[in-house]
Amino acid sequence: MTTPRIALVTGGTGGIGTAICQRLADQGHRVATNYRNAEKAQHWQQRMREQGHDIALFPGDVSAPESGKALVQAVEDALGPVEILVNNAGITRDTTFHRMSPEQWHEVINTNLNSVFNVTRPVIEGMRRRGWGRVIQISSINGLKGQYGQANYAAAKAGMHGFTISLARENAGFGITVNTISPGYVATDMVMAVPEEVRAKIIADIPTGRLGKPEEIAYAVAFLVAEEAAWITGSNLDINGGHHMGW
Ligand code: NDP
Repeated sequence: MTTPRIALVTGGTGGIGTAICQRLADQGHRVATNYRNAEKAQHWQQRMREQGHDIALFPGDVSAPESGKALVQAVEDALGPVEILVNNAGITRDTTFHRMSPEQWHEVINTNLNSVFNVTRPVIEGMRRRGWGRVIQISSINGLKGQYGQANYAAAKAGMHGFTISLARENAGFGITVNTISPGYVATDMVMAVPEEVRAKIIADIPTGRLGKPEEIAYAVAFLVAEEAAWITGSNLDINGGHHMGW
């Protein structure tokens, strides 16, 4: 039986985030996420309600420490202590490194990696005090194997692994597990924005012959969040249709 928990999923209104929010809510957890654009968020919440999901929405930009802290504070004031944190918010600003601007570098590092500090830091002490917690980073296949035009993104996503294995060590004695999921190419807006001919080449390289579904990533989050997953910590779960296999 699932013990209901308070879960914060960053970037929950996006493709993978929506599936994670729905999956955790279906399991009986009270799920919160952030938004940046109020109008878009209202439509999203309406759509969730029509599908039978009540996901709590809070304004929040995770790329800066103050706004990350304020987001956690708002969630905790409204719902109670965050027990499950899924660091999922992310962006791409692709270009080859020799053309990359400082803005493209910093925007991606701030949103994809510094956000992990900005949101995890305000929840970790409470998790330690209460002796239970789940922290999951949504990294990427490209943080493991690199990608042309993604030096910024791959650096941020690879950084998540160092964070995960250090935080896992520091908190293993406090009932807290910390893990990373590295999705391959999943059919969300982020990947559908890639030119069709590039996407076709990517799919041709995937042994299963298709893009992943957001629900297939959410399934892994649910697996790591489970009470029974208490001995899985400091791990990385590759979910990529066989696109990148390694030890
Ligand atoms: P989407 O673009 O669909 O969703 C991204 C989400 O992150 C949106 O809700 C977005 O909010 C939010 N977000 C972006 N910047 C910020 C910010 N500064 N503060 C708060 N929220 C923010 O992407 P996906 O669902 O495809 O990706 C989700 C995660 O999975 C990302 O970390 C991505 O890197 C990773 N991933 C995705 C893969 C894929 O193939 N799709 C493959 C591997 C990893 P808003 O709408 O307001 O911008």
